[in-house]
Amino acid sequence: MKKKQQIIHRTKLFGGLKTAEEVHAEFGFRDRCLKCEGPPVLQIRMFMEHDEFLKRSPDMAAAIAMSNPDGMYVPSVPMTFGAMVKYATVTACRLHQKELEQTAAKAPSYILVELDYGPGCEKPFIQVPRAAAAS
Ligand SMILES: [Zn+2]
Repeated sequence: MKKKQQIIHRTKLFGGLKTAEEVHAEFGFRDRCLKCEGPPVLQIRMFMEHDEFLKRSPDMAAAIAMSNPDGMYVPSVPMTFGAMVKYATVTACRLHQKELEQTAAKAPSYILVELDYGPGCEKPFIQVPRAAAAS
């Protein structure tokens, strides 16, 4: 059985100056809204499979490998579904949240979409590649 998440009370963060959401927006997201520079509530990270990235955009892969100071390779992140290349990071405010979620939902199957809503036990955290979910 899953352990219930502990609720962080307002008085515990900086003497009650900031809520957990505000602290996460400042130090976790580290960005403003893509469209209006508003305070962020959602960050979407998109990862592409490493082999798919090399196949679909060889020019960008070559440019990344050439400019990599550690060697001639494309940096990737090991994940449950294999090595992934971080493709895009976008942040949205509450006004543009739905628009960005709808755009992310239309991502092709080889893109892994990670939605980060920040802290809160009632908020969903979704990290499922659409190809694995369909099979
Ligand atoms: Zn916005």
